Amino acid sequence: MNTNDKTQLYIKLKSIVRISGYGNIDTYKDFQKGTGEKIYKRSGGIEQFFIDELNLNNKKDLEIFTNNPKVTDKINQINILFTNQFSSNKARRTGFGTFEKFYTWYLKQGNTCHYCEIEQKKLSELFESTKITSTKFNATLHIERIIPKKPYSPNNCYLACSLCNNAKSDLISEKNFKLYFAPGIKKFYKDLYAGKIVNNY
Ligand SMILES: [Zn+2]
Repeated sequence: MNTNDKTQLYIKLKSIVRISGYGNIDTYKDFQKGTGEKIYKRSGGIEQFFIDELNLNNKKDLEIFTNNPKVTDKINQINILFTNQFSSNKARRTGFGTFEKFYTWYLKQGNTCHYCEIEQKKLSELFESTKITSTKFNATLHIERIIPKKPYSPNNCYLACSLCNNAKSDLISEKNFKLYFAPGIKKFYKDLYAGKIVNNY
């Protein structure tokens, strides 16, 4: 493992697999219940687990990762996603099973609305510049269920902007929404972003 691989693994263990207790170690390593505690409780604790997994020599070596602002920023960013979109929502926790599965699904979405294809970054800019305002919605892409009656799962979810998600609701199928509604919403965002139109009312 080179340093870059170790960095990625550290981020994964901290924020995606979320190793914070001995029980998490058992699950991650597929150990029998209680094994993680038996190994690490009296010999360095959770910190030693990270040292072992990253193939490091000591605590000092671990500081390369714990004191690296790029690493801690990335971890904080993933933690925000965990808190806002996963742990606070029981149906999502149940549907996706683990945050790792949720995160894998999330990365595949590419930070864009599945329907109108607006990027999260552009949508945030539209809200921040008050080209679009709302008392109900913000720029954050929603986690939309393709078939609203079915549970959350990687196969039944897409990221969708608030306009697409609310317009589609449980009224329009994915196929019809893409065909009849998404092109209009796409054009609206494009013209608004380019300053061709305003949206005052
Ligand atoms: Zn959209």
